[in-house]
Amino acid sequence: AKKWVVKKYFDGVPKKSDFEIVEYELPSLKDGEILLKTEWISVDPYLRAYNKNLPIPYDQFSFQVGVVQETKNPKYPVGTKVVTHEGWCDYVIVKETQIEIGQFPKGLTYKLPDLQGLSPSLGVGAVGMPGVTAYFGFLELCQPKAGETVVVTGAAGAVGSLVGQIAKIKGCKVIGFAGSDEKCQWLEKELGFDKALNYKKVDAQSALKAAAPQGVDCYFDNVGGELSSVIIGQMNIRGRVAVCGSISAYNDKQLPKATILQPSIVFKELRIEGFIVWRWLGRWSEGFTQLVSWIKSGQLKTAEHTTVGFDKLFDAFIGMLAGENTGKAVVQV
Ligand code: NDP
Repeated sequence: AKKWVVKKYFDGVPKKSDFEIVEYELPSLKDGEILLKTEWISVDPYLRAYNKNLPIPYDQFSFQVGVVQETKNPKYPVGTKVVTHEGWCDYVIVKETQIEIGQFPKGLTYKLPDLQGLSPSLGVGAVGMPGVTAYFGFLELCQPKAGETVVVTGAAGAVGSLVGQIAKIKGCKVIGFAGSDEKCQWLEKELGFDKALNYKKVDAQSALKAAAPQGVDCYFDNVGGELSSVIIGQMNIRGRVAVCGSISAYNDKQLPKATILQPSIVFKELRIEGFIVWRWLGRWSEGFTQLVSWIKSGQLKTAEHTTVGFDKLFDAFIGMLAGENTGKAVVQV
């Protein structure tokens, strides 16, 4: 079997030489274990963000969809499609103690939910971790009400594109920030965003004022940095901010100078809350059921940026960090 191992701490943008593809002999299965052949592997921003906190070398983790090739677990017969967090590997043995949804870090191996004929790749995307991040992170923390104005950054990405559409389903006005004109067009024309702004081109301060003259009620923050400061500065009284990620700083060697947000937070009485999606691990299937139903009814559109080939995982990862993806970045093995 083959797996990608991270052997160095990333210094700025990750380099291919920070990784090594290791070949190894798979042991035979013990009772309760399953052998999976990987079909889809996810590349995500947290693979970059978590690097500095881990002892190296480590096997590159991430979500994947695989199919059971051999089994010593009667609950997982050969042919069962499974989601795991075993990462960038072509085959993997999952131990029985890892198999159970609802308990972190154990609960990250589970049967692929019933996707009603949709692509299994959605199991690492819109009906996987990014999907439940958008679903619970936005609905629970932002508590959107019909008629309110919602802003989302990273809007054309895996999480952001879902957040904006869920906000539309809830009757909100939605403004997204994304990194290219093509992405902005897609958000407005295909996904029904009321306005999409290319943060690389516009003056965010005045463009947002023009797009949301009535101010911002909910902000789903995927990127952090200066753009977030501008948006938070235009929040309404009792606005709600869900802080999901800060990808604008993941490759920075030093954190950027903080912008002073406190006056907005105090005088507008904002509620700003960070979260990690594992918080809702016990409720993932509830999220999956709603997400599949919205996709099937056409209320939620999904897009994927697919790279083919196990050997291309690094390129797919770097491409995603650089914004090559519209929708979820996935690798088909
Ligand atoms: P995306 O699919 O959105 O891919 C990353 C995107 O980030 C790129 O496509 C790029 O789009 C954008 N980007 C890259 N650099 C910058 C920058 N300097 N400023 C602004 N945007 C940038 O990834 P995900 O949807 O998987 O993740 C989105 C965010 O959510 C990340 O911050 C991630 O860490 C976070 N997250 C947090 C979770 C949690 O539990 N808290 C769970 C899952 C994700 P563009 O062309 O628009 O620049």
